[in-house]
Amino acid sequence: MKCLVCKHNRFKKGTTVLPIERGKAILLITEIPARVCANCDEPYLDEATAQAVQTLANERLSGEIRFSKTREERAVLVAAFG
Ligand SMILES: [Zn+2]
Repeated sequence: MKCLVCKHNRFKKGTTVLPIERGKAILLITEIPARVCANCDEPYLDEATAQAVQTLANERLSGEIRFSKTREERAVLVAAFG
């Protein structure tokens, strides 16, 4: 596997943060385990982790989307992965 950004092929274990936007709500998911490019720090998630991130986002945002329709401000939520 090569980094898509810099073509480097060495990775280290790390964590990353992903913002997921649904309507006006934004969920920031932190502490997501990822392989991180040793050269440029671009994070890569494996498929199971990416799926789990989506599941977590759906759970956390399902109530928030309905709520945020009734107001103008954007809501930012934070959830730690796992
Ligand atoms: Zn890279």
